[in-house]
Formats: sequence, C-alpha cells, structure tokens
Amino acid sequence: MAVPGKVAAFRLPPLPTIGDIIKLYRLKAQKQLSQNFLLDLRLTDKIVRQAGELKNAHVCEVGPGPGGITRSILSAGVEQLLLIEKDPRFIPGLQMLSEAAPGKVRIVHGDILTYKMEKAFPKHLTKNWEDEPPDIHIIGNLPFSVSTPLIIKWLENVSKKDGPFIYGRTQMTLTFQKEVAERLTANPGSKQRSRLSIMSQHLCTVENCFVIPGQAFVPKPEVDVAVVHFTPLVQPKIEQPFELVEKVVRSVFQFRRKYCFRGIETLFPESGRLKRTEQLMMTANVDPTLRPFQLSMSHFRNLCNTYRKMCNEDPSLFVYNYREDLKQKKKTNSLKSTSQPEQTE
Ligand code: SAM
Repeated sequence: MAVPGKVAAFRLPPLPTIGDIIKLYRLKAQKQLSQNFLLDLRLTDKIVRQAGELKNAHVCEVGPGPGGITRSILSAGVEQLLLIEKDPRFIPGLQMLSEAAPGKVRIVHGDILTYKMEKAFPKHLTKNWEDEPPDIHIIGNLPFSVSTPLIIKWLENVSKKDGPFIYGRTQMTLTFQKEVAERLTANPGSKQRSRLSIMSQHLCTVENCFVIPGQAFVPKPEVDVAVVHFTPLVQPKIEQPFELVEKVVRSVFQFRRKYCFRGIETLFPESGRLKRTEQLMMTANVDPTLRPFQLSMSHFRNLCNTYRKMCNEDPSLFVYNYREDLKQKKKTNSLKSTSQPEQTE
C-alpha cells in the first residue's frame, strides 16, 4: 500500500547501463525490430507526467522493455501496474523491478495486439462514459510498426466502448514517429491532415505533447519521436459505426491530391456513380472541388450521415468495395485479351 504523503516508498534497482543493454539484446542485430530504448529518467518522467495524476492510479504499460518508463510510473505512486511485454528477454529485469515494488506490479509475457484488455483492471474502477475518465491509464513507447495498428484498434474500441474502454474513457499516453503524431493531431488545411486525423479526432481529444529527439534513444532511430495523449470524447463528433466512418474517410483520402469528389465517387458502383456522388455531396453540403485535406470535421460528419441514409435505402451499397471491383475488372479484361483469337494476316 502507498505511504500517505510519499509518492514511492521503495527503492528500485539501478537501470541497466547502455553497455548492459547492448550486450543483452545484441542491438545491432535488433535494429530492424525498431527496439529503441529510453534510458534517461528525466525524459521517462516527462512522458509519464503527460498522463496526468497517477497517484493511486491503475496503469498498463505496453512494451516496457528494459523498464525506463516503468520506473517513472512506479515512482509516480501508482496503485497497480500491469506490464505487457512480448520479448521474453526483458522479463527477468522486469521481475527485479516487481520485487522492488512488492504487490504493485503484474507482468504479462504477451502481445498487446491480442491481449484481452477487458479483464485487465478491477471492475470497481469502472466509470460511466459521461463521467470523468476512470483512474486507469495506458502508457507506452512501442515500436512504430505496432503503435499505428494498435491506435487504430483502440480507436475502434473507443467507438464501441469495449476493450480498455469497457471501464469508461480510459486515457492513453503513447509515443509515435513524429510524422504520425502530426497526422494524428493535424487540423483542416494542414498538409499532414489524413485518415488518422479524422479517425482519432472524431473520437478523442488528441494532444501532441512534445517531441523527443532521436538521439535520446538507444540505439538512435532514423526519425524523431512524439508523445501523444488521448482522452476519449463523451460524444463522438461523428455518430456513426466505426466501419462506416472508416470507409468514408478512407475513400475521401484515396486520392489526396485530387478534388475530394474523386475519392468520394469510389463509394459507389460504376452504374449510377456520378449521380450518387452528386447526390451525396449536395446533401452533405460539401464543395466537390475542395481537396481532402481541406475538409472539416463537420464535412466528414455530413458525408457519413448522408452516406448512412443512402446505405439504409440500398443495403448493397455498404458492401461495395471499389478496390475489389477494380481487381475483378482487371482480371476479366486480362482473361478476355488472352482468350482473343490470334490475328492472322
Ligand atoms: N518502453 C521501453 C523504452 O521506452 O525503453 C522499450 C521501448 S521499445 C521501442 C518497444 C518495446 O515494446 C520492446 O520492449 C518490445 O519488445 C515491446 N513490444 C514490441 N511489440 C510488442 C507487442 N506487440 N506487445 C507487447 N510488447 C511489444
């Protein structure tokens, strides 16, 4: 139990040195797995501060690795810390940390992409969605190859109020490649505005907290890294199913340099495409000559609401897949050309 007035009432063993880490994890060989570690405790403290007040909180750290961020979380005086780490080489070091903070740490050797977050925390911490966020936080510095698919999965969980959001509006503090963080937080008109901007901002308040220069990591990654904080919104800005919003947003950004109608028309099968595209854009009040990055959240809301109505009228519309259709047409055309009789002179 935490000692009142004190944040952390235990002594953690020293962090492994850079030399230890290089020996243990053969870093050169691991470079392709983007294992970039943070061993500067001032920086890990700064990341953890972005999560907010953690005293007596329940925290899940994803990908703790050698435990830099883990130490900062424990020093913030959390009640319980769940660590989910995929690489077995890190488990003994994490066990040492756990022994230094008795009763606080639970270590799971597993993959965060498949781990069932619905059972990760005690049920009594659950808050109503409309209330303040629960005293539960997710924090992590994951490889870039994992953090983007993971945030998409978690945004879907936010929209369905399941996974880690079964407990309410659980907050997340995660690192991303700087460019991805810029996309997550980009405003209309910005060059970085993309599918990720709409998908994240229609469901969460997204804050680009600060940039960590590449040289702060061991080994140094090719790119800079940014810390992003997410708080799920009480009321999503687009009140339609995740799959429908995803489909509309993906279609709009399919041709990001062209006028937006070019992407929007791919929502419809070839027969009647032009008429339906005009109908959608007029009803949604979207100027077809805007570029995708210029569309505001209310443009996307109108597009999704109108597309939903059109799908209700014609349920075959939602299953229409432009890419599949193109592939089929190409296949049929190539079959036709190979079965053409040879021309004789
Ligand atoms: N958090 C540590 C730090 O900041 O020094 C380690 C960061 S390193 C970039 C990413 C960590 O995530 C590694 O420890 C790696 O083994 C772990 N990891 C990678 N994929 C994972 C997954 N799918 N589930 C859980 N952990 C994962």
